[in-house]
This record gives sequence, C-alpha cells and structure tokens, in this order.
Amino acid sequence: MEASSKAATEHVAFICRTCGVQYAPSMQPPERCPICEDERQYVGWNGQRWATMADLIAEGRRNHIAEEEPGLHAIDTRPAVAIGQRALLVQTPAGNVMWDCVTLIDDASVAAVRALGGLSAIAISHPHFYAANIAWSRAFGDCPVYIHAADRQWVQYPSPSVRHWEGTTREILPGITLINTGGHFEGSVALHWRAGCDGRGALLTGDTVTVAMDRRYVSFMYSYPNLIPLGEKSIARILDALRPLAYERVYGGWANRVVAVDGADAVERSAERYLRFIRES
Ligand SMILES: [Zn+2]
Ligand SMILES: [Zn+2]
Repeated sequence: MEASSKAATEHVAFICRTCGVQYAPSMQPPERCPICEDERQYVGWNGQRWATMADLIAEGRRNHIAEEEPGLHAIDTRPAVAIGQRALLVQTPAGNVMWDCVTLIDDASVAAVRALGGLSAIAISHPHFYAANIAWSRAFGDCPVYIHAADRQWVQYPSPSVRHWEGTTREILPGITLINTGGHFEGSVALHWRAGCDGRGALLTGDTVTVAMDRRYVSFMYSYPNLIPLGEKSIARILDALRPLAYERVYGGWANRVVAVDGADAVERSAERYLRFIRES
C-alpha cells in the first residue's frame, strides 16, 4: 500500500485504485472500499490499494479533452485510472454540465475546462463513476453534484455540494434532463441533452445503458465485471423511463463508445434481443 506511508501528517482524500472513487479526507487510508466489495464490482486481485491525487499525477497521467460534436467534449485520463471511464462536458447557453467524472484533476485540466466555459453542475450516472466529483466541484465554485437519492448510501465523500434528487426525471438546466432508470443501480441515471446531435437529441448513459462494441446495439447489466444480467422487470423499467425521450445518438461511458444514429431504435431492438435470450434460457 504505497500511499499509507504518507498518511500520518495530514488528511488526504484517498482514491481506491480499483474503482477510482475518491473518499472523504482521512489521516489513514480507509480500511475498505464498499463500492468494490459490492457484488457488482471486485476488490483488486492484489488486495485493497489506495493512491493519492499526487500519486496519479506523479505517475504521468494526464487528462485529454477533445470535441465529440459541437457543444460536447470528452475528458479521459491517459494512462487510464481504474475503470477508465470518460467524462462528458455538455455546453449550454445556461451553463455547462459535466456528465460522470474522471478521477484525475490537475491545473491543466481545470484551465482547459474553464476555457470551455467552466462548470455549472456535475451529474453522475452511478457509484462506479463518482471518481473525484467533489474535487471537480470545488474547482468550479462548489457547483452542485447531482446524485440520485436512491444511491445515497454509496456516497463516500459527503459534501454540501451533493444534491440527492428524487423522482424519475429532473431538468437541471434548460434542455438537460436527468432520468432515473434503475437497473445497474437503483439510482442509475441517464442524461438527456435535447440540443444534442443537431437538435435531434442525445442520450448520455455511462453504463446505465452500455454501448456495445459493435456500436449498433446497447446492453444492460446488473454487474459488468462479474457478468450478472438484469431481469425482465428491470429492462421494462429502463424502457419506460427512456421512451418519452427523443434522441438520435447514445454516448456510452468509455472513449468512442457511441451509437451515432438511430439511438432510440437501437435501445428498443437491443432490449428485444436481450429479452429473447433471457427468456430462452
Ligand atoms: Zn473501490
Ligand atoms: Zn458500473
């Protein structure tokens, strides 16, 4: 545990090496990571390990920010940290939203996001992607971090910035709506960006609805690393939550995982295929 030797003199917000979630500051690394001990994740094969933000930066990791389409940038860390998800930055006339989060934050990435208009809010799909959401919020005026109330017990870095929202939908800025679908987590959320894809709409999903490798289909799992599928009721609930939305494009949680066209149709035919397989078994 390379980080523990530095922990004695000051409070440090330790980061789990396997899930990349940052914890509330403490003198010693936490004993356990409840997110990794949950059956949807796993404890690293060499045991629970912790890092500090300074460790990640010293290892040469940096954030790369690139435009995906007008008004949308992807932020990913190279070499990857933990699960390796990307964050997406949606620009709107009323302010910018960071969808999901990356663990690494440094001066260069804060400057780059500031040049794109900064952040008015952060919204998180589910606990695996909490990353360093409080550090990012703090860098942008303690902007609100929207986490669905059903996942309240998974928050590892409590802060007044966290907004536990309830219900099925919440418009957090004009044209930016969070949708609670359940499934992977009870509080799993997708983000609908009405102006995305030239006004046809875009759905940002993390792994609430994951974009498959062929980028024509999506899938739905209770656990991705441990390969535990969802049942029919969960799929029905996800479809019910998403059907009212118009969207052409689906942006998944990892670099270049995008269904570029017919996104809403891709979700429907993917659910049909999925249900066919689980019913046949
Ligand atoms: Zn963890
Ligand atoms: Zn996940």
